[in-house]
Amino acid sequence: MAVRPAASAAVQNSRAPGGGYRYMNLSTDLMKEIREHARAELPNEACGYVMGDGDRACALYKMTNADHSPVHFSFNPAEQFEALHAAIEMGKELIAVYHSHPETPARMSEEDIRKAHDTEIVYLIYAVGDDEIKGFTVTREKTVTEVPVEMVMYKEKA
Ligand SMILES: [Zn+2]
Repeated sequence: MAVRPAASAAVQNSRAPGGGYRYMNLSTDLMKEIREHARAELPNEACGYVMGDGDRACALYKMTNADHSPVHFSFNPAEQFEALHAAIEMGKELIAVYHSHPETPARMSEEDIRKAHDTEIVYLIYAVGDDEIKGFTVTREKTVTEVPVEMVMYKEKA
């Protein structure tokens, strides 16, 4: 369900030949927002989308964890539609889904892999305990590849 407005050359270059991201740029401000969202939702998992251009993240779209659970998350479909609409209005794409792991490390759980249906986006996991974020892509065959998350110091106007 990733939105794909006019892709720039830079966007094309950031993608691996078979599609999917090679890396993701995340500003220190967005990292701070994810960290704060994750802490605010404790003991439950926090979740949401990252809007951006290609590999470059611009803004968070915080979502409600419909499961209200410390070990699961799911999106409300109506809210997903709102997020998609907001991205289109801003001329951005939904480039990543993020969620927090309150107790466990920043890696894809079996459930995370099973529920990762979008092969075009990055799945970001923020581990609250380790204060660490990692990104992954998941193919249709459920092959998980880590996508390096590069912290950058720019502040993007939304
Ligand atoms: Zn998870």
